Formats: sequence, structure tokens, C-alpha cells
Amino acid sequence: MTGTEYERRIAARFAAFDQDGNGYIDREDFSAAAKALLAEFGVPARSGRGQELYAGAEAFWQGMAGIADRDGDQRITREEFVTGAVKRLRDNPERFAEIARPFLHAALAVAAADGSGVSVADTTRVLAVFHVPAEAAGAVAAALDTDGDGRVAEADVVPALARYFTVPE
Ligand code: CA
Ligand code: CA
Repeated sequence: MTGTEYERRIAARFAAFDQDGNGYIDREDFSAAAKALLAEFGVPARSGRGQELYAGAEAFWQGMAGIADRDGDQRITREEFVTGAVKRLRDNPERFAEIARPFLHAALAVAAADGSGVSVADTTRVLAVFHVPAEAAGAVAAALDTDGDGRVAEADVVPALARYFTVPE
């Protein structure tokens, strides 16, 4: 992978977390992501699934801050993201899965309106909320349907997203 390609990928991963695009990742970005996801699927914030999603978003933020916010100012800059999050999570993808799982579990529950699992199309909608480029989102979602039944299982989503966000080389 060329340096430019690597930097492009990093920029895309950073943008997925920096929901409001103000140049750093903070708690607001995680609550904004939860809010956007609830709006996309028409789930009320005060519902059980809504509250679970917000709790997962807070846990995800705390985990990311613990890994990447080196100066403790409650903001993850692009430099902190690259030197802290990307490197440490690439070295330890299980750690990413651990901190992201409550949020992803809740996000899939929001997307699985009828409780019978999440369709590939709805997974693409979830990824779009996180600013995953459309051409990548469709392919990522389809790849998650490992047995080809048109449904995506949580057990496949968490490690796949961990791979995506930790920029495999
Ligand atoms: Ca931000
Ligand atoms: Ca910081």
C-alpha cells in the first residue's frame, strides 16, 4: 500500500468517527452517531433500544478515549487517532471488538426492526450513517453475509468492523 493510499484510508476511518466533521473526535460525535442511527431507522431515543444505543455509544467513547486521548483533553485529534487508536487497535483487534461490541449490538438491534436479524441492505444503511463510502459499504455488508442467506449476524459484524477501522495492511 502506498503512503497516499494509507493516508486516504486513515482519513476515511477518522471521518467515520468525526460525525460533525470539526476535526476531532469527542463524546458529541458518539451521541450524534447514535442520534443519526435512531433517526435513520425511526426508533425513539426514549425507547429501550434507544437508551441501550446511547449507553453503548458512551461506552465506546470511553474506550476510545482511554486508548487514544493521550493528553486527556476529552478530544481525539487526528494525530492521536493515528498514533494511538489505529496502531494500538491494529496490534490488538480484540480490544477494539471489546469496546465497540455494546454499541454495535445495540445498533444492530435498532436496525433489526422485526427481530429476525439484520438484512444486508439495512447493514449498508448502518454503515452509511457512519460515513462509510457507499461503494465500500455495500461490499462490506455483502461480505458480512457469510452464509448467503441475506442476513448479517452480530458474530460476523464486530470482527469485520474491527478489521475495517483498524486499517489492515
Ligand atoms: Ca467531531
Ligand atoms: Ca486529546
